Amino acid sequence: TAQPPNGLDAVNVQVILRCRPPSKEEVAARTPQVVRCDEAMKAVTLTQSVPGASKQQTTRTYHFDKVFPSDTTQERLYSSAVSSIVEEVLEGFNCTIFAYGQTGTGKTHTMTGDIADELSAGAGVIPRAIHQIFGYLDGIASEYSVKCSYLELYNEEITDLLTIGADVPKVRIMEDRSGVVLAGIEESIVKSSKEIFALLEQGSSKRRTAETLLNKQSSRSHSVFIVTVSVREVTPEGDEVIRVGKLYLVDLAGSENITRSGAVEQRAKEAGNINKSLLTLGRVITALVEGQGHVPYRDSKLTRLLRDSLGGKTKTCIIATIAPTVQCQEETLSTLDYAHRAK
Ligand code: ADP
Ligand code: MG
Repeated sequence: TAQPPNGLDAVNVQVILRCRPPSKEEVAARTPQVVRCDEAMKAVTLTQSVPGASKQQTTRTYHFDKVFPSDTTQERLYSSAVSSIVEEVLEGFNCTIFAYGQTGTGKTHTMTGDIADELSAGAGVIPRAIHQIFGYLDGIASEYSVKCSYLELYNEEITDLLTIGADVPKVRIMEDRSGVVLAGIEESIVKSSKEIFALLEQGSSKRRTAETLLNKQSSRSHSVFIVTVSVREVTPEGDEVIRVGKLYLVDLAGSENITRSGAVEQRAKEAGNINKSLLTLGRVITALVEGQGHVPYRDSKLTRLLRDSLGGKTKTCIIATIAPTVQCQEETLSTLDYAHRAK
């Protein structure tokens, strides 16, 4: 957490790291592992062998706000890193949780995992957040409403994952005094966790279908699940206040789409593969953390969308995901660099 100049609030960005376990195939092939997580020291160490010099190794250690080794359960990740953020949302703040990392490292597992109204061990951040929110709301006497929407952002275009049918209106981002407004989007009012789970399942399966049809588009698309909680309260003086908090849960595009320096690789540029939103997000977070006067929100759709929940009185959590194996070491290094810059 940095203290920016000119009297602004401290920016609250938490960066945590999660390493997935080796897959069955990786275990069967005895794939060398190059990542060591030290949870107590909040450190992760990458040991790389130097190409062409098998005996030579370089070791790098990075520190994060929290480090979760590969045996970390979904439940523990949630209770230790996420539940306090959801509490902020219930108090009326806007918060964002991102999963950032190479394709195949566990972003979707972490954010969504198993979806079912009854939480299972495999349930990820989104289903657990829904449970926490409704658990709280069911226990209070005040009136409340919960709205949710589910979007996909691909090639700087927004698709609504909750509308059914072919004739889907284009989604546009607008801003007014109350914050970011999405025009042309399905915003469902949900009365129970059951209803919101049905929407989550519906949107996730629409995303999976698109993935199969469009040749792994999902590794280049971002998905954004938005929950808005409004609670009506009456003050001791008898005045009515509505407390509104928004939670953005973002499963980002695969980080292999940008290079380590954060610059766009020439090859990627030629292929038209620039992930503008992913690059801009990095710049926005750096600008916020360093307290720069100009924050380039307007440079991408994702950062425009998240504008009222990044910076200011908001909490942001980036969950960087990595794989433990030697094949992934270059991408792992890239992820560690990106995530570390956000700290
Ligand atoms: P991504 O969304 O980053 O491309 P996925 O979430 O699809 O990656 O994960 C790739 C595979 O690894 C999936 O089969 C997933 O179930 C598994 N996996 C990822 N993280 C974990 C973890 N922490 N524990 C167990 N399995 C995991
Ligand atoms: Mg995924």
